[in-house]
Amino acid sequence: MNRRILIVEDDLPVRDSMSEFVKMTGFDCQVASSAEDAIEILKKAEFQVVITDIMMPGMDGLELTDIIKKDYDIDVIVMTGYSGQYSYEEAIGKGASDFVFKPIRFQELLLRIKRVFKERELRQERNRMMADLQQLAITDSLTQLYNSRHFFAQLKMEIERANRYSHSLALLLLDIDFFKNYNDTYGHLEGDKVLSTVGQMIKTCLRTMDTAYRYGGEEFTAILPYTDVDEAISVADRIQYALECIAFYPYADISVQVTLSIGVTEYSPGEELTTFVNRSDKAMYAAKESGRNKVSFLPPTAAS
Ligand code: GH3
Ligand code: MG
Ligand code: MG
Ligand code: MG
Repeated sequence: MNRRILIVEDDLPVRDSMSEFVKMTGFDCQVASSAEDAIEILKKAEFQVVITDIMMPGMDGLELTDIIKKDYDIDVIVMTGYSGQYSYEEAIGKGASDFVFKPIRFQELLLRIKRVFKERELRQERNRMMADLQQLAITDSLTQLYNSRHFFAQLKMEIERANRYSHSLALLLLDIDFFKNYNDTYGHLEGDKVLSTVGQMIKTCLRTMDTAYRYGGEEFTAILPYTDVDEAISVADRIQYALECIAFYPYADISVQVTLSIGVTEYSPGEELTTFVNRSDKAMYAAKESGRNKVSFLPPTAAS
């Protein structure tokens, strides 16, 4: 972890002695003689902590703190004399992480710096854990695609967008053919490998704005924003072709091909989410009925 500190202090002897001490204790350190100077330095290099004097000619330390907290993820420690002109509350109110009185007692400063870095690390670790948890809650562990909970949330959002901006929106529902046979013949674990590979393969056939989901057991969905029927059908064709190029080896000497039946639908403005999804389901079943390994499109009028 980087440990770079910027000291902002207009008083030269104080600035020099602080800088020397901070460097001696093992931190990387740079100095600025004014808030304006500090702002320029921050634009060019990365710091985790700024220690700033409050009383300086030009911009004061509180205003600087305010700017830093708005623009950067940097912890600020402010320093002030016993002038009474500035309060602890004011500094913390601007977002400062700590407050030290002048004349600076170096051992105390060191403890405060260490504490600020420690809290910073804990905060970052907590944020990473929260992000991981959030990701976990929307991810299917077998295929690493998004799960069905996230599918419904995203589809709701995409439908709102399609209605608001009058753009097209397509949905694919993909179901592996005769998958029960595959499981029964080669075992559930081999079936899991197929699910995982097919899931990743579907993802690689999509554009970056499209999203793929594991909808249920051996069923997948893909939301394709800004996509009309013809484009959606060509995406479905592309997925089927890509799957044709993949062979599975449940035993070393046995190669097996797997196919998908794909239902394609385009959103009809004002339509309910469930109607849209049910139509995709019907389209997928139409693909099954027409012999499997097929792509089938169902227009809105054929829904009910
Ligand atoms: P169809 O062509 O009509 O879709 O036939 P199918 O056999 O694929 O469909 P069916 O609905 O009869 O069976 C689905 C199978 O998917 C049954 C189940 O064992 C399998 N399956 C569902 N979830 C999983 C899973 O997580 N892992 C594995 N290995 N198999 C699963
Ligand atoms: Mg000063
Ligand atoms: Mg199924
Ligand atoms: Mg199936």
